[in-house]
Amino acid sequence: RNMEGGEKLPAGGAFDGAWAAELIAELRRGFASGRTRSYAWRAEQLKGIARMIEEKEAEIMTALHDDLAKPHLESFLHEISMAKASCTFALKEMKQWMKPEKVPTSITTFPSSAEIISEPLGIVLIISSWNYPFLLSIDPVIGAIAAGNAVALKPSEVSPTTSSFFAKILPAYVDNSCIKVVEGSIPETTVLLEQKWNKIFYTGSRNVGRIVMAAAAKHLTPVTLELGGKSPVVVDSNVNVKVAAKRIAVGKWGSNSGQACIAPDYILTTKAFAITLVEALKITLDKFYGKDPLESGDLSRLVNVKHFSRLTNLLNDKKISGTIIYGGQRDEQGLKIAPTLLLDVPHDSLIMDEEIFGPLLPIITFDKIEQCFDFIQSKEKPLAAYLFTKDKKLEEKFVKTVSAGGILINDTGLHFANPHLPFGGVGESGMGAYHGKFSFDTFSHRKPVLSRGFAGEVRARYPPYTQQKQKI
Ligand code: NAD
Repeated sequence: RNMEGGEKLPAGGAFDGAWAAELIAELRRGFASGRTRSYAWRAEQLKGIARMIEEKEAEIMTALHDDLAKPHLESFLHEISMAKASCTFALKEMKQWMKPEKVPTSITTFPSSAEIISEPLGIVLIISSWNYPFLLSIDPVIGAIAAGNAVALKPSEVSPTTSSFFAKILPAYVDNSCIKVVEGSIPETTVLLEQKWNKIFYTGSRNVGRIVMAAAAKHLTPVTLELGGKSPVVVDSNVNVKVAAKRIAVGKWGSNSGQACIAPDYILTTKAFAITLVEALKITLDKFYGKDPLESGDLSRLVNVKHFSRLTNLLNDKKISGTIIYGGQRDEQGLKIAPTLLLDVPHDSLIMDEEIFGPLLPIITFDKIEQCFDFIQSKEKPLAAYLFTKDKKLEEKFVKTVSAGGILINDTGLHFANPHLPFGGVGESGMGAYHGKFSFDTFSHRKPVLSRGFAGEVRARYPPYTQQKQKI
């Protein structure tokens, strides 16, 4: 366990909760001092993070390359520049977000004034995942700070270089008594989860999401769960197929080799159009990654052997034999699987059961495009649902009938980048949302305050409830 720079675990180790109790006590003292509430403190921390991103860009890129062989441009576009944008946006908008919101009053409370005040929740725990280990750690931290909280970040041990980057580097840029990094895996996280937090923000798998929620329930701690799911892409036959293929490919393989929570998980299209779409995808993939994609420096690797085996298991499922129509090559040493297309996989195959989270893309066909909507609705609600079409009526029907964390028409992944849209799941893909003002709200209590003077007495309100009063 590399705790250098971050929190040091005392001799008792992970299972002895003393270190966590100490950490909590220090965060509580920091929060109770009141300093995290001031605009100046919040702005100073956010500027510190922005400076860290600016000054340590090369180190962040190296860490992401170490952990995932993420291509530098992908790291820049998907993690570093997004984190920068998030900081800049919060710094620009935070004063406005912090202002009490005046709201109307009602005749029942006349005369009075009413407002909603956003107050910080207190001390918050952020547990993040390994696939976008920089952005998905720092982005919720930015929201928690903007809302005036004290924060502990527990990055994923599965991306160890980025995790230790945070432990070593972040403390040099922020107030260490109120913003802490704890490295560790399940034992450390379990101990952290036993403590009483005022909010837990978790990004990761559903199963662990359930563990987090159960632990939070003991203290009635509110949670935001950013989970995953099988995000479908429906492709209509009237589309610009070249553009559609590029946008699907970049959302899948150009996003950490499919290890992205909103990566297209599978395609649904009509039987008649499938071959055209497949041809366009093949041409796109040849252009993106060449004839030997395992050698391409533009394709991230799989995070570890466990995930490599999980994905090869999906490919070895007998039920899908004969369905691979492109790719399928594997390199266990290099932890890479080539972009792989599978056509007409059985609906009850393993690959259609669990979230793929890797470079395999099954395509399922139906006679009519509307049947795709029924298929999506027969499954758990996904984190994202995509539709490619020029048909406005079909678009309307999709938006109206399909329930998902977010919907994007004629592209993939990009809804994540609009800070005016809440990002989060629904049902099994999660609860709560963040980004922009939604992050601020996620880490705030919206406290209603009604204020009255001493005028405006209504006698009927008070006992005794005389006959005369009852006539009113
Ligand atoms: P994971 O649940 O295995 O790990 C996430 C975090 O939980 C890590 O920090 C890990 O240390 C901790 N953890 C793991 N097991 C634990 C346990 N038993 N008790 C306590 N803590 C534990 O998830 P992952 O593999 O890192 O991420 C993959 C999943 O996350 C996918 O389903 C993906 O769709 C989802 N995801 C969602 C989003 C989103 O924004 N909604 C983003 C990225 C990933």
